Parts: sequence; C-alpha cells; structure tokens
Amino acid sequence: MVAVAGAVLPVWAQDVDDVAPVDFAAVSAAVTYTVDAANEQITASARVAVRNIGLPDEAAVSDLSLVLPTTAGLSISAPQNGVPIEVRPGELSADFVVWTIALVRELDPGRTAEVVVEFVLRQVGGNRVPSATRFNPAYVSFPALGLGDAGAGSVRVIVPGWFSTRWVDLSGSIDEPVPYELGLAQIYDVVEVGEGFVAVVEARHDESLERRAETLGDTDVAVEFASWPGDGSWRGLIADHLEHLIPTLESLIGTPWPIVGTLEARESNSGLVHGFGGSFVRAAAGSGIELGPVVDEGVIAHELAHAWFDDRFDPWLAEGIAFWLAVAALGEEDGGDDRPVDRDDPAAMALEQWLPQHGDPAVDHYGYAAAAAIFDRTLTGLGATGQQTFLRAILAGSSGYGDRVSPPEFEDWRRSADVATLVNVDLMIEVVVWVLADPPDDLVGERAMTRTTYERFADQAGDWGMPAAVEIAMSNWDFETADRALGAAQVLLDERDDLAERAERLGVMQPVAAKEAFAADTVASALALRAEAVGIASVEAALAAADAGRSWVASIGLLGVDVDPWVRDVEVAYTASDHALATSRSDQVIARINDAGNGGARRLAATGPGFAIVALIGLLFAAGRVRWR
Ligand SMILES: [Zn+2]
Repeated sequence: MVAVAGAVLPVWAQDVDDVAPVDFAAVSAAVTYTVDAANEQITASARVAVRNIGLPDEAAVSDLSLVLPTTAGLSISAPQNGVPIEVRPGELSADFVVWTIALVRELDPGRTAEVVVEFVLRQVGGNRVPSATRFNPAYVSFPALGLGDAGAGSVRVIVPGWFSTRWVDLSGSIDEPVPYELGLAQIYDVVEVGEGFVAVVEARHDESLERRAETLGDTDVAVEFASWPGDGSWRGLIADHLEHLIPTLESLIGTPWPIVGTLEARESNSGLVHGFGGSFVRAAAGSGIELGPVVDEGVIAHELAHAWFDDRFDPWLAEGIAFWLAVAALGEEDGGDDRPVDRDDPAAMALEQWLPQHGDPAVDHYGYAAAAAIFDRTLTGLGATGQQTFLRAILAGSSGYGDRVSPPEFEDWRRSADVATLVNVDLMIEVVVWVLADPPDDLVGERAMTRTTYERFADQAGDWGMPAAVEIAMSNWDFETADRALGAAQVLLDERDDLAERAERLGVMQPVAAKEAFAADTVASALALRAEAVGIASVEAALAAADAGRSWVASIGLLGVDVDPWVRDVEVAYTASDHALATSRSDQVIARINDAGNGGARRLAATGPGFAIVALIGLLFAAGRVRWR
C-alpha cells in the first residue's frame, strides 16, 4: 500500500500525474532546508512519520512514497525501527522524482513508523539549462516542498543573513513568513503547511552581481547589465536582442524609447520559478527588466514593450498590447499564442477583474491569452499607420476625441473603448465582450446610437470639424447632452448649406467666419451665420438691382457708367464677413441704380423725340430685336 505526499506540484511540473494518497495512511513531516553557501547547495532534512489509521481488521501499510525534487544526493534511514529499508526511485519529470520506500516491517492499523530523509538540491547543468534550482553567490532559488498531509507538518528554511529572501507560495496556502535571526542566519518557519505545499524560495545577494554598463550598438540606450557571477555570456546574448528589439519596437509604436537614464537588465530565475518569463519594473530610482538565464527573445520583447505600456494601464491593456508588440517585433504572422481561448472557458473572467500572476496558472493562462486575442483580432489588420495612431493615443492618455478634449475623470474601459473606436470600431466590440464583467447594455447601446448620429454629422460637417461641446459630452459618455448638442449643431449645418447654395448661385465666395468659429464655439458660429444671411441678402439685392438697372431706360441713365464694380464692392464686403458694409454698399448700389433710372427718363425727355427714336432704334438694334432687311 502506498501513501504519497506532495501530490500538488508547482507550475513547471504540472504535466506530472497526481499520485493519490491512500486514505488509511497519515503522513506528517517536518522538513528543514538549509542554504549552504560554502558548498553552493541546499541541504534538506525531513523527519517523516507514517501511521496506519485504518480499522483493526484492515490492510497493513507496506510502502511510503515521497515526491521530492530531483536531488543531487539522498539518504533515507529509519532510526526508530533500526533496520535498513529499501528505496526505489521512479522519475516523474525532469524536476521531480517519486521515491518509494518499502517499510521493512509492514505497518498494521494503529502503528506508526518514522523515517529520516536527507537530500541535497544543487543546480544541475549550466545556466542555459532550465531548472528551478539555481545556486550562485548572487542568486539562489529552489522549491521548498512540504511532505506531509494537509496541515500535518512544517517547513523550515535557513538562509545566510546576507541574502534577501522572497517566498512565492505556489500552493496559495500561506502568507510570506516573517523570519527571525539566529546568529548569521535568518530562519523562516511555516507550521501546519497546506496540502501539497510548495513554495519557491528566492534568495538574492545583489552586491555579488557582476555589473557592466554599456550603450547599445547604434542606439543611445544605456543599459547596466547585472549578471550572475561566472555567467558573463548572458550579457552578450541579451545585448544582441536589445540592440535590434528596441529600434523595432520604437518603429512599431511610433514613439522613441521612453526610459530616461539607464535601464538595468538583471539576471534572475524568477521567470522559471513563477511561471512567467520575466518582469519589468518602473521605479523613480531607475527602471529595470529581469530576465532568465535561458534567453527567450519573445520574453525580452514582451518585457521591453512594458517600458511603454506598464502598470499605469489596466493589466489587460498593458499585457495584451505587450503580447501583441512582442509577436509583431519578432515578425510572426499571427498571435504567437496558439492556445485557443474561449470566453466560456471554465477559467474565464471579465478581464477588468484580472490581476496577472496572482497564483492560479489556469486563470493566468486565460488572462494573457484573452488579452492577447483582443489585440491580435483588431490591431493586426490595421496597417502600420492605424496601429501607431492607436498605440500613441493610448500612450498620450487621449480621450479618443481629439487633442482639444482632455480625458474624462474616469479611467476605465470606457476610455479604452473610445480610443479603440479611434481606429477600429471592432476593437470597441472586443473590449465589451472580453473586458466587461457586466456590460451595461443600455450604455453600450446608447453609445452606439449616438455614435451613428455623430459619424453622420462628422461626414456632413466635413472641414468644419466637430463642436467641442459634442466631443466633451461624448468623451464623458453623456449621450443625452451629446445628442442635444448634435441637434443644435445640425441646425447650423443646414443653415450653412442653404447659405452655401445661395452663394454658389450668385457665384460669390462664402465667408469663413462661421466655419472658423464652429468647432470651438457654436454660439459665435450661429451669430456669424445670422450676419452672413444678412450679407448674402445684400449681395442678392445689389445684383437684382444691377440686373434691373440694365433695362433700357435705366441704361440710358447709366450710359458711360459701369455698375459691376459697385456690385463687386458688395461681394467683397460679404466674403470678408463685413456684412454691415455689404448692406450699406448694397443700399448705395440700389439707390444709384434707382437714381440712374430716373436720370435716363429725364435725359430722354430733354433731347426730344428725334433723339429718342434714334436712341430707341439703336438700343433695340443692339439688343438684337430689330434687324435691317
Ligand atoms: Zn507582461
């Protein structure tokens, strides 16, 4: 019979089949891990007690199975029984071995046996070989497993005092323990560890990192490499990637490298142990990326993308864009993440509720894949200009409604949706589907309706632009106000079009005052249109008078006088938006033409019938009404 501990395994070992413990064997274990700096290894010692808790007539326990990390050295003894025991290893994965310990004397119900297990964890292979266990003077990482049943046992970790230590509990059962100091050591105790307890312990001694600053190739990006002692080749490998990835990202985003000062690139095993590739941290003291010893270009591109799209943005936005940028920077055709993602996945959640790297691999898998899917579906087909427009608008904190409108008070999915709409209306739909926990159907529907009006209006407005009042209301998602403002502005556009038609009919150029005021101040634009209506009426009146003045009687009065310049004066004043002048000039033209009409009649009377007949025949002839036969 077999009792197994450590059935829940960390992220990197989840392809291992779980080994279920039998229900009549209880296992408790006190495990101590000691970071042994002198020998560059971690020694572990576990006192394991197994008890048969079955009823008196039930089976005996013959074997104890323990899942342990792949060890560099192992010894097992049974001090209380005082007799040798038989141990058989069975490989579970590259990182884990299941050890089957045959108890010399089978355990009958009610009896307990104790064994002591001692093992050594050591980094296996070079730095380019993936491994959870690392050991060098600057950086130590290893998995600390609990070996007992749930709540039955403890884990103690002893670390030299010069390391700064961090725990990541992959089984999600404890908070990070507070150490106490004993001599030169820090001691971390965790009692009553949870089921399948696995914590990753990271101990750093940054003073031992090998540092070297350089400016990358053709760029002016300054990087300080901080690599593990004895791992000099890491710096060169990373520098090669940074040198071409940074300019590639700059051109994809259309914005220069955003880090002022030196970027620190630090070697760490965090990526492997925590199940993600690297990390980016922006800090006042200096920004940095952490990258693993096993170099992965996609991970480097992703972390560099976070220099632009960092935690100032919602996680789904920053991670989705970083993912998309990494894929684009590597020149891959599509999403790069070929894991299908489904909004109905059991691990699915609205992305606005997703916090990356909180521990549950299924949730993180879903979160990253879904965030990546949003941008893969929408940005990929946009073309370089559209992609840049979108990415730069996000970076600039744009409202999605042009530079004149400062972003609204709220900073949530609504602004992202507005920025998304700037380049691709489908992106808005993706945001609603993937990001929102409880899509407010009313609001989304209302927005869609107002956007239709808005876009139709924008088409008609053309180079007159969009009134600021409309854009402010739209960016605040105040669609009632936006509809009202659009309605009021529509009246102006109709008036504009009517005036334009009249001006075209007369062959005069329309003034620009109303157009110039329109986008900033619709009231000023409305006043300008009202004045313009007076102006165009003056031009019409002057032209009508001039046409009437071409009657033969008036023409006699106007003989030798050209009325066109008078009308031209009216038109010029109108086009210059000086409608008062246009009106007074027009009145003058009309008055002079009227005078001329009277003058012509007088002239006819004064010269007598003879002249009148000659003049009349002359005029009729000129008009083509009389022909000599
Ligand atoms: Zn990321």
